[in-house]
Amino acid sequence: MVVKMAHHNLLEKIEEYITGWMADRANNAIEPGSAKPAFGVPLIGAACGEDPLFPFLKNDIGTDFYWTPEQAYGLAFPDQPVKPDELMVISWVLPQTKETRTAHRQAKNFPSIEWSKARHYGEMVNGKLRQSVVRFLKEQGVKSCAPMLLPQFKKSISDRYGFASSWSERHTAYVCGLGTFGLSDGLITSVGKAIRVGSVIGKMRFEPTTRSYQRHQQWCLHFNDKKCMVCARRCPADAISSEGHDKKKCKTYIRSVTAPHVEQEQLGVRVNSCGICQTKVPCESFNPTRRKRGSRTLGEVG
Ligand code: SF4
Ligand code: SF4
Repeated sequence: MVVKMAHHNLLEKIEEYITGWMADRANNAIEPGSAKPAFGVPLIGAACGEDPLFPFLKNDIGTDFYWTPEQAYGLAFPDQPVKPDELMVISWVLPQTKETRTAHRQAKNFPSIEWSKARHYGEMVNGKLRQSVVRFLKEQGVKSCAPMLLPQFKKSISDRYGFASSWSERHTAYVCGLGTFGLSDGLITSVGKAIRVGSVIGKMRFEPTTRSYQRHQQWCLHFNDKKCMVCARRCPADAISSEGHDKKKCKTYIRSVTAPHVEQEQLGVRVNSCGICQTKVPCESFNPTRRKRGSRTLGEVG
């Protein structure tokens, strides 16, 4: 039975909450105490728990380890069985700032320090945002969980795709109408590919976000006219080709080259920072199949 769409204003309230939370520099700083933001204005989307793409992803990525929304929710609330059509998934995209992107465009073999800070402290911001949205929903009388924060969340190996995990924020954002995949595996959104992503699952109902695409690589130029491959030329590890993204090569480069660089030369801790393929590319800060290069983007701040 499909549960009647209720909570008409809840999505708007959630959007307002996330946007307001991210606008507060006490929450969203590139490093503790900094006046500079880690990310720009977020994009937010929603999908129904019963969306057929969720079981499709589970089957495609790994039936034995990848979660559907009701499985993830069931782990958070094991005594409260729930049906897929009682749930909604909220996904957000946090765009890298213009300052971070500009600095990172100069990167050739090593990430810029701005990018490494956004990867390290910025991901902490994203983690706190997940917790804070769950708290906000609780105040609204809605039970929810952030799959990435569940203790059962783990990395795994997919037979088809190699490195994988229990929940993919990028695939969730795709289902929530926020963007499509690029040749480099990054998600190209209306504010581009230089982003971080997060999500929560809640027992609530409202209209989902319309997906304005039919194919999963629709917004990548390579899958339109075959004339891009700029991300492949940007990658210092030769991990991107016309065949796609070689996760093993990418991970090896990050482990052996960039993470030690961040520890020794930048932040004093190992951080899996790279993302050179996410800047100085046509899809850096907008959807290149829709908008002209160089036009102002929604994600630009300061
Ligand atoms: S740089 Fe070009 S080929 Fe690579 S993901 Fe972006 S649009 Fe696609
Ligand atoms: S993250 Fe770095 S190593 Fe991996 S594909 Fe992008 S540029 Fe290459």
